[in-house]
Amino acid sequence: MKKHNFSAGPSILPRVVLEQASKAILNFNNLDLSLIEISHRSADFVAVMEKAQQLTLNLLGLENKGYSVLFLQGGASLEFLMVPYNLMKENGKAAYIDTGVWSSKAIKEAKLLGNVETVASSKDKNYSYIPKNFSIPQDAEYVHCTSNNTIFGTQIKTFPKTDMPLVCDMSSDIFSRVLDFSQFDLIYAGAQKNMGPAGTTLVVVKDEILGKTGRTIPSMLDYQVHINSESMYNTPSVFAVYVSMLTLQWLKDLGGLAAIEKMNNAKAKLLYDEIDTNPNFKGTAAIEDRSHMNVTFLIEDTEKAASFDKLCKEAGISGIKGHRSVGGYRASIYNAMPLESVQALVDIMKKI
Ligand code: PMP
Repeated sequence: MKKHNFSAGPSILPRVVLEQASKAILNFNNLDLSLIEISHRSADFVAVMEKAQQLTLNLLGLENKGYSVLFLQGGASLEFLMVPYNLMKENGKAAYIDTGVWSSKAIKEAKLLGNVETVASSKDKNYSYIPKNFSIPQDAEYVHCTSNNTIFGTQIKTFPKTDMPLVCDMSSDIFSRVLDFSQFDLIYAGAQKNMGPAGTTLVVVKDEILGKTGRTIPSMLDYQVHINSESMYNTPSVFAVYVSMLTLQWLKDLGGLAAIEKMNNAKAKLLYDEIDTNPNFKGTAAIEDRSHMNVTFLIEDTEKAASFDKLCKEAGISGIKGHRSVGGYRASIYNAMPLESVQALVDIMKKI
């Protein structure tokens, strides 16, 4: 039976990408060698890295705009530390918007290196909304936000307007919608939602914001070191980069971000409409801030919850258990999730 994979991450990838990746594990580019047993400095792999970088800039509309693309390791969690290391002066200051667990973790790491001003937070209501109308101190060196809150099912629709470098953790909604990406000076995202397997982290950074802190930065944490080595300062996660490249090519062939946004909107509408019209379910996020990637909802009646769980299991619906800090359910409907799978979930919701 086909499973409908609603996992929050690692999560669903396009079937065709998995097939291509499986082939490359056995025989990459007809070399009679596996992708994961050749040198990362071989011409075949260097071409993969370059293509992944080009596709990233192309899809984000950032070609020839002074940005570099890196595929690093350590997950988005290491970026929580690398960002302040590279952008904050000794005893400097940064402004953070606290919209959930991942923002809080970013704040925790930044505090190790300097002063953090949390300029807005939605912690008062268990992160069920995106704070608005806040001001940013003039002496901050950068502003950090999280575009999509994977656990709480909220998503920023309008980003802060600021003259300072704007940094965004886009781990759970990168490549899912059209945005003016040039409003950001640094974007980072763990691969394991909309891009590829866990093991690589995408960093897109505007070159001109680097080298201004006066800090001595350990090599592996220094974006400039990675840029100077074309993202090959040390051995990259070759498999994760390759699969990310395949997914980005899949997305481009599909029509890029405009095309995927349309599909994502249709999936989100289908599911939220059911949540809003079915009296058994209740959404947890403020309506105007609802995520189009992670749909969080509750079922009020515990007896009905048991039969809903049973029906989901029978229908092959996988990975919709909510995060412990919200409870209920979370259906993650990333780029590769087909509308039919969302329909399968909605069909079951209608039966309750
Ligand atoms: N930021 C966000 C928005 C996330 O969803 C996650 C992981 N789910 C992280 C950061 C942490 O990513 P990683 O596990 O790659 O460190």
